[in-house]
Amino acid sequence: MRAAVLNAYNEPLVIEELSSPDLGPGDVRVHIDASGVCHSDLTVQTGGVPMPPPVILGHEGAGTILQVGSDVSGLAVGDKVIASFIPACGTCWYCLRDQSNLCETANSLMFATRGVRSDGSPVFGMTGLGTFADEMVTSQTMVVKVNTDVPAEQLALIGCGVTTGVGAALNTARVEPGSTVAVIGCGGVGQAVIQGARIAGASRIFAIDPVEMKRKTAEQLGATDLIDPGAGDPTAQVQEATGGRGADYAFEVIGLPETILQAFFTARRGGTVCIVGMPRIDAQVTFPAFPLFADEKRMLGCFYGSAQVRRDFPRFVSLIETGRLDVAAMVSRHIHLEDVNDAFRAMQAGEVIRSVIV
Ligand SMILES: [Zn+2]
Ligand SMILES: [Zn+2]
Repeated sequence: MRAAVLNAYNEPLVIEELSSPDLGPGDVRVHIDASGVCHSDLTVQTGGVPMPPPVILGHEGAGTILQVGSDVSGLAVGDKVIASFIPACGTCWYCLRDQSNLCETANSLMFATRGVRSDGSPVFGMTGLGTFADEMVTSQTMVVKVNTDVPAEQLALIGCGVTTGVGAALNTARVEPGSTVAVIGCGGVGQAVIQGARIAGASRIFAIDPVEMKRKTAEQLGATDLIDPGAGDPTAQVQEATGGRGADYAFEVIGLPETILQAFFTARRGGTVCIVGMPRIDAQVTFPAFPLFADEKRMLGCFYGSAQVRRDFPRFVSLIETGRLDVAAMVSRHIHLEDVNDAFRAMQAGEVIRSVIV
């Protein structure tokens, strides 16, 4: 199989011919039908979150089961699946408490071999996946079967961006009908937060992003107010539009200390701040202590949209099927595996919401 391998941080990915590792009893082999190129792939490529090279990148994919291990149940050859970048083992302490997004088996799968070079040396797969490839061997706990005719390019995005963003609005923050929502950062995940807020019935959704194309897409997907942070303080603009109070919910969807702080100030007193963007592992953020106390804002971390993937992937598929969730509008470009480095460039240049490898 071909796979896009990161051999050293900050270097372009290299398309290599690898063998699939032997299929363990609990593993499945999946043909990758589509894989989104997510900002977190770039964060790994630049060493912002350490995943030791050589590693096959890609963690947002959909595919078709080619082979199942001897202990696999509930999955069969030909099934359509969406990859989950966090396993849902179903039996650990967190999985038993409806927090499968914090599944205890995630760390052990992080360093599983997902490709083998001709000299026999192993290559990891990002987060236990590695979807920038023709096919992928992974644990049965990292795929969710779906029965749908939704195209693979859209199903792939459910694997990360859609679930993280829609889940942030519906699961983590639980946006209420009629509320006001500010979304800082309108990439793929931010667009999904906007859609989640729209689905939840928010009355006003402020889309904050310096890139005009992203603001326009946000408008198409449900944002009511478009704010260019280059044209004035976004917090002041949100406050002005909300009787001086600020938004009921402020979502940070970039992962930078300064925008996390901005989200804190953009939420009203008693409002909710939801941290969705993935920061670099060494980033620090400092809050003023008195408002942290006196303004009584709920500060919510949001990992993978608090998603219970076996419940939520089919839920989001249904929302796409009935036209409530527009994932087609989030797919900016279809590319081939060998174009992945250019997709990183396009992402950094703000040219795309999502490039999808098909
Ligand atoms: Zn991602
Ligand atoms: Zn678990």
